[in-house]
Amino acid sequence: MADRDGFIWYNGEMVEWKSAQTHVLTHTLHYGMGVFEGVRAYETARGSAIFRLQDHTRRLFNSAKIVGMTLPFSPEAINQAHIDVVKANGLKSCYFRPMAFYGSAKLGVAPQADDVQMIVAAWPWGAYLGEEGMARGIRVKISSFTRHHPNITMIKAKANGNYMNSIMANTEAVRDGYDEAILLDAQGYVAEGSGENIFVVQNGVLYTPALDVALDGITRKSVMAIAKEIGIEVVEKRITRDELYTADEVFFTGTAAEVTPVREVDNRPIGIGSRGPITTDIQQRFFAIVKGENPAYQQWLTYVD
Ligand code: PMP
Repeated sequence: MADRDGFIWYNGEMVEWKSAQTHVLTHTLHYGMGVFEGVRAYETARGSAIFRLQDHTRRLFNSAKIVGMTLPFSPEAINQAHIDVVKANGLKSCYFRPMAFYGSAKLGVAPQADDVQMIVAAWPWGAYLGEEGMARGIRVKISSFTRHHPNITMIKAKANGNYMNSIMANTEAVRDGYDEAILLDAQGYVAEGSGENIFVVQNGVLYTPALDVALDGITRKSVMAIAKEIGIEVVEKRITRDELYTADEVFFTGTAAEVTPVREVDNRPIGIGSRGPITTDIQQRFFAIVKGENPAYQQWLTYVD
């Protein structure tokens, strides 16, 4: 990733990609205290548009508040940095990685509070779980790793260190021949994927776990709005592992994963064993919205030009 051409917004400056570096004694590298976002821009008929930028930036600032970090830039400056980075790199559709981390001013558990560094990087990124997965669905397994307890790591914060749990779960699933993991919470109920929220379709109703143990996903909120618009009831409830096995459809949502169907859980085919009809409908509507083809959702798009 480091050896690319282009520019990264780094503490208010547009820095050459290859020079956007930090020291090995960077605090966040040692202890994982930092907050970040994943954001996407899509190519539309009116040029590049960033999807729900203000919501992502709000979550970034909320994440910082939760973990007790003071960010040295305003939300407006971070929003503008996204726009500038698209332009500086001549991108049309891309994935963004805004992040705030502690620098190398001081090591030891307590960071130097005013040593917060910020970046916004952007690069082209296709379907996170593969084009085939988007069309046919992916194979997932229930992880042997438990999702975070709400009073151990702060679940509402998209915090760097929280992702150790995601990495272990995803790595285990992929090593075992699956595409992704589903994590259960400390009580044994379905929480989320390693980087995705989860939905279950049963008898035409959409079910998803409440947010006690899952990230407050922006794609999740978008899908709930789409479902409401097309008259599909959405119920937030505890979901058990066996309810997944007998579901009509299961799908993941996330900025990277977009709307990804799940065709198999623990080697059991879900529903028709391929992308189901409600998943297909929601997926198509989601892509129409992000590509600016649905005028009713223009408020979710920030056009770069
Ligand atoms: N859960 C986790 C753990 C995630 O990392 C993500 C990706 N940010 C999501 C859910 C989905 O959130 P969003 O739709 O806002 O990308």
